[in-house]
Amino acid sequence: MSLTPFKRVLVTGGAGFLGSHLCERLLQENNEVICLDNFYTGSKANVFHLRNDPSFEIIHHDITNPVFFQVDEIYNLACPASPVHYQYDPVHTIKTSVLGSINVLGMAKRVRAKVFHASTSEVYGDPLVHPQHEEYWGHVNPIGIRACYDEGKRCAETLFFEYNRLHNVPIRVGRIFNTYGPRMQPHDGRVVSNFILQALQNKPITIYGDGCQTRSFCYVDDLIEAFTRFMAADDSVTGPINLGNPNEFTILELAEEIIDLVNSRSILKFEHLPSDDPKQRQPDIERAKKLLGWEPKVTLHEGLIKTVEYFDQVLQKGEEEYYTYE
Ligand code: NAD
Ligand code: UDP
Repeated sequence: MSLTPFKRVLVTGGAGFLGSHLCERLLQENNEVICLDNFYTGSKANVFHLRNDPSFEIIHHDITNPVFFQVDEIYNLACPASPVHYQYDPVHTIKTSVLGSINVLGMAKRVRAKVFHASTSEVYGDPLVHPQHEEYWGHVNPIGIRACYDEGKRCAETLFFEYNRLHNVPIRVGRIFNTYGPRMQPHDGRVVSNFILQALQNKPITIYGDGCQTRSFCYVDDLIEAFTRFMAADDSVTGPINLGNPNEFTILELAEEIIDLVNSRSILKFEHLPSDDPKQRQPDIERAKKLLGWEPKVTLHEGLIKTVEYFDQVLQKGEEEYYTYE
């Protein structure tokens, strides 16, 4: 039996939804993990179960300030991901993407670490090409309410590729499409968490606009598998690579699936569509299949069952109690 060689790995945004699953996976593979987070949208509760692992460390730090750790690999996930949260302090969101990337890349250059960056399908904006493939340059409103996130992430990609060209920093840029699963925050306003919580409490399901806009939902375990495969790939595989599940659904279809699954009495409540809300989104994952040998395995139905179980527990225990860790 061959074990993965021991590595020191930094995960920025490690106490968030995706970051906490990634820390868990990296520890399972015998790595030493430093979880850096400013706890803006993440929580110590997300990584509380890892606290007794001697290979795990938590650092409270804002990535807009410089850092230095002697590590082999970095996963740069720090950034609020839900529209509600990234629009709350748009200037700090831009700083997190831009200054955060500069700090992470400067460090990667000095310590010669490989660095994965969590980019996003939002770099394609409200896309005019469907499905979205990596050669598409996107359709982003640079002065709209989503721009702090979209343009910040686009600038971050530019920085990653410049550090790669100028300084040979080994980079991996993954463009993540909508991902869901346990440890999404209950009140971050994202569609899967909103609908599940509403359905479990028989409250109206809030459909923004007519609900005909589409998204393609990837279960978190599939995505984390893609992250680690990407990191393990040859340094010539820089990306960008789309990481997501190509099965596309309308928001209305998602609502119906969740209502059925929960056996809920919720009704649909139609509300105002936020500006610049992308009308359709579906990843073309041919590149990920070819270069990483990866494609998602978990169906929406299977993934929703696990996510509903999680939110059900949160509600049963009471949110305050559930997120209390000390
Ligand atoms: P999340 O909000 O749960 O996690 C982000 C983490 O980063 C949180 O723990 C937060 O406290 C931390 N953070 C934010 N600003 C920081 C700062 N300045 N310094 C240090 N830590 C900071 O979101 P997530 O869904 O886990 O997303 C993780 C990454 O993946 C983000 O970069 C996001 O843009 C990207 N992404 C996620 C999705 C998705 O569907 N979940 C889709 C596309 C891209
Ligand atoms: N949405 C919705 N009701 C909600 C939350 C979101 O109809 O309670 C819609 C939202 O307008 C968008 C889609 O669901 O069209 C996905 O929203 P989310 O915030 O999860 O992610 P993003 O827009 O960043 O893909």
